[in-house]
Amino acid sequence: MNKWPFFSVDLEITNICGCTCIFCPREKITRPVGSMQSETFSLISRELMKIPSRIAISGMGNPLLHPEWHFFLKSYIDSGGKIGIVIPANSINEMIIEKMVFAKPTFVEVSFPTLRETILEKLIPGANAYNLIEGIRNLRKALCKSAIIINGLGTQLNLDEEKEFMTFWKKENCQGRFFACHSRGGNLDQPNLISSKFQAVKQCGLFAVHSFITWQGDLLSCCHDLTGTTKLGNILSDPHEKLLETKTNLMFNGPDFPICQKCDEPAKSRAIPANKFPENPSQKRKFLGKWAKDA
Ligand code: SF4
Ligand code: SF4
Repeated sequence: MNKWPFFSVDLEITNICGCTCIFCPREKITRPVGSMQSETFSLISRELMKIPSRIAISGMGNPLLHPEWHFFLKSYIDSGGKIGIVIPANSINEMIIEKMVFAKPTFVEVSFPTLRETILEKLIPGANAYNLIEGIRNLRKALCKSAIIINGLGTQLNLDEEKEFMTFWKKENCQGRFFACHSRGGNLDQPNLISSKFQAVKQCGLFAVHSFITWQGDLLSCCHDLTGTTKLGNILSDPHEKLLETKTNLMFNGPDFPICQKCDEPAKSRAIPANKFPENPSQKRKFLGKWAKDA
């Protein structure tokens, strides 16, 4: 059985969000809006531990608005899994840090698009660069054993920022990443921000190694599906072997959903792994380090 499609899983515990980031196409969501029940999380995490998958709690919402996010993280960690969370920088406060210390996630990815104040204020209305950086510093100090990854966004407004961004966060003992702003499967109507170029590919490298599961347990093509039309199954009702088989078939012959035709996601160009699924932590770390840098 090919386990690669569940190597890494984005789990959307909620698609509710109060932020208004202009690089986010949330307003196009037509699939149901809501939050994951704790029983649903337990069932999904039990399935994913059989791989075991590396989970990122993330999706088209702010996971910190889910009242149980910290318990979800802790329970997967306690069962021996690797799990982290993707959060907006403007949600970090003392209470969130306390809950992070309780949960001890494997990693925290912070969405902090740019160090340039005026651009930041434009991208995240109401954001204050100084306050957000102080919040990340406090999180870094409190979570000494978790990896803290800061996700920057290369838009048409700051295309030359990558080096400065990476150097800044390295000095802060965080790992910087700088992604090209793309249209999220054609959903983002901000041509003045988008810096990624469409590339035709026969196979999607992201789809091959990574899966996206909604708060209702639906397995979709990826997080760019805002309508739910690419549903491949449901992890609560379909055995994970069946879902892996479905993804494996599509992985070598597509996928070819309508959103893929407009997809300018750079990670789709990553190579499909030729090696055996890594079974031990050091092989997994080695693969992940290389894969994350690819494209
Ligand atoms: S990018 Fe994240 S925090 Fe910003 S609006 Fe979208 S879901 Fe909310
Ligand atoms: S090609 Fe793009 S839209 Fe299609 S599965 Fe891959 S990342 Fe998703």
